[in-house]
Amino acid sequence: MIDLIEQVEPLVDAFRRPITYLRISVTDRCNLRCVYCMPEAGLPWIPKPDILSFEEIEAIVRAAAKVGVRSVRLTGGEPLIRRDLDRLVAKLAAIPGIADIALSTNGLLLGQQAQALRDAGLTRANISLDTLREDRFTAIARRSGLEKVLDGIDAAIAVGLSPIKINTVVMRGSNDDELEDFAKLTRERAVHVRFIEVMPVEENVGLQRDAWVSSDEVLERLRALGELHPVPNPHGNGPARTFAYDGAPGSVGVISPLAHDYCETCNRVRLSADGRLKLCLFGDHLIDLRTPLRSGGGEDAIVALLRGAMHVKPERHHLALGETASVMRAFSEIGG
Ligand code: SAM
Repeated sequence: MIDLIEQVEPLVDAFRRPITYLRISVTDRCNLRCVYCMPEAGLPWIPKPDILSFEEIEAIVRAAAKVGVRSVRLTGGEPLIRRDLDRLVAKLAAIPGIADIALSTNGLLLGQQAQALRDAGLTRANISLDTLREDRFTAIARRSGLEKVLDGIDAAIAVGLSPIKINTVVMRGSNDDELEDFAKLTRERAVHVRFIEVMPVEENVGLQRDAWVSSDEVLERLRALGELHPVPNPHGNGPARTFAYDGAPGSVGVISPLAHDYCETCNRVRLSADGRLKLCLFGDHLIDLRTPLRSGGGEDAIVALLRGAMHVKPERHHLALGETASVMRAFSEIGG
């Protein structure tokens, strides 16, 4: 399919990083209220008319594919609460050049949608799960649903999405005593658990300061559970350092945006649900694509904006522990 697309100069930013990966937030709304992510009452949601339609997302991805984007991830908010998401997946899968469509989900609705998403062209999924205990799930996510998430993981495996990654935010005194249970999961099933450091957003500064566990500490504690061998990151767009226990079908990994940032190898930009291109997760570099799109700007206009963005994408974030990311109340606004 890649052979068929017109050869144009691919996106490369001012620091010579090829940009091949677009993360798309399809909604800022969520059916969970994770303590590190958003307040219990929710956030002032983006008004519905401002949210990009599937056709608008398709147009942006078509333009991005023309200039070298090969991989997209649907995220949010919770992407599976956007009705008929499989329709969007099918549209994106049909775009020449797009070779990989991934999903980030909390898994609650995955059991009922996995087959349709797979049939539409979804290739893989990251499922967020911070605990394997129901009472803690309810405390962390402020909603119940552990069983549903576990069903969602089973369904994702059964329909052949691969790899299946599990994203676990590690919090001291809350779930950091479950490292062993998650490690055990990777010895039993072909799932790839990624332990993530809590990142600061406006909503969670106190928690982030008090509960932050460095990925180095997590790794040390994982090593104490058995010998770990470095393994390649399955389907590697990811910034994780990845390991496996002897004979394990799955892997464990750590993602350390703060302790060891991975800006040097950044290959991505993000699209917010209301059509703003965000050039760094922790920066306030935003480019409005919705207005030009809605005022009749075609593919060439979007391509020009994407190219212009390459001069604006910062070299790195300058976030330190205990600081708040500018202009971001929660990850749900921009797609974590
Ligand atoms: N709802 C989807 C999900 O649960 O995966 C996609 C959006 S969610 C914002 C994406 C990921 O960001 C989840 O794994 C979540 O745990 C993580 N996340 C949200 N806020 C975070 C924070 N402050 N620090 C670290 N990870 C965070």
